[in-house]
Amino acid sequence: MHDSKSCPECNHPLKHGYIISSRRISWSESSETVWADDGSEVLIKDAWFKLKKTPALKCEACHLVMFKHN
Ligand SMILES: [Zn+2]
Repeated sequence: MHDSKSCPECNHPLKHGYIISSRRISWSESSETVWADDGSEVLIKDAWFKLKKTPALKCEACHLVMFKHN
């Protein structure tokens, strides 16, 4: 299964893969955020018993990684 999405930055073909994480991944619009629960948005939740796999696209030319979160 290969669709031909390309990188929005450099137009290189993107690779399908997964973000693998056993820890939460959060988003914040502020670089001042220090604590995990300090107003940041959880994109990928903690996985306690197994690694969480989130489908993602990666550009090997400019190292951009994109994934969708719920
Ligand atoms: Zn790129």
